[in-house]
Amino acid sequence: MKINLAKSAGFCFGVKRALDIAFKAVESGGNIEMLGDIVHNEDVVKEINRAGIKKLKHLGKGKNKILLIRAHGEPIKTFIKALRLGYKILDATCPMVKEMHKIVVKMEKKDFKIIIIGDKKHDEVHGIIGQLNREAIIIDDIKGVPLKKIKRIKKAVIVVQSTQNLEKVIGIVNALRKLIPKLRFFNTICQPTRIKQQEIRLMPLLNDAMIIIGSKTSANTKRLYEISKSLNRNSFWIQSKYEIKLEWIKYVKSVGITAGASTPDATIKDVIGYIGKSTQKD
Ligand code: SF4
Repeated sequence: MKINLAKSAGFCFGVKRALDIAFKAVESGGNIEMLGDIVHNEDVVKEINRAGIKKLKHLGKGKNKILLIRAHGEPIKTFIKALRLGYKILDATCPMVKEMHKIVVKMEKKDFKIIIIGDKKHDEVHGIIGQLNREAIIIDDIKGVPLKKIKRIKKAVIVVQSTQNLEKVIGIVNALRKLIPKLRFFNTICQPTRIKQQEIRLMPLLNDAMIIIGSKTSANTKRLYEISKSLNRNSFWIQSKYEIKLEWIKYVKSVGITAGASTPDATIKDVIGYIGKSTQKD
């Protein structure tokens, strides 16, 4: 049986960069704290905790402490509060998220209404809203377009949470174009996500089964799984090798494997090793 691993499987550039920044800071002996989990992956979170980085729910006293800002970014008020409490800030916000922050700030100054296509509850979306002075409109689904509000808007800018599904986004943008006279669209789906989505639109058609690896809390893994499942019903979402059922792969000639942007290489290697061994025995 052939195992085909997606080239883009696993950590994206932004997550790798944030982890590098975090571990280098630990090596240089900092007392580091972080609001929430660094990424949506339990193994990575455990590793970060073992390295001594403390996860916080709320900011405390910051004297002699460093606040690590995660790849998703944070609202401006978090930076201000942290500095006021005495923290030094180590900003690991992904440069692609920063770019989006710049766009919304610039366009708000030009009086454009800001529309974000993304998940209302996601930290990246909170970070984007948190750069603005005025209320933004967040749309997570074409059925959720707030028609009354939208029809009153004369000019608006759309940005997109970096890991959204492009097809879904295009549908929403096309619907909004009919309603808003002056509309500018910045496709801020990041390059690593675009590559992942291109691969996941092809791999399920070329393989008998698909395995998507990533935490059940990872939104980008969920999207990969949903696209895969829509193209190949033999698509399975696992967090680790322990969830693989042999009947999924027993009689297939090829298995495609991909993994979300927060899935570590070690987990991917474990899954490949496990499948390789299990199918050899047969
Ligand atoms: S998913 Fe994209 S925007 Fe988000 S951290 Fe990774 S590279 Fe950056």
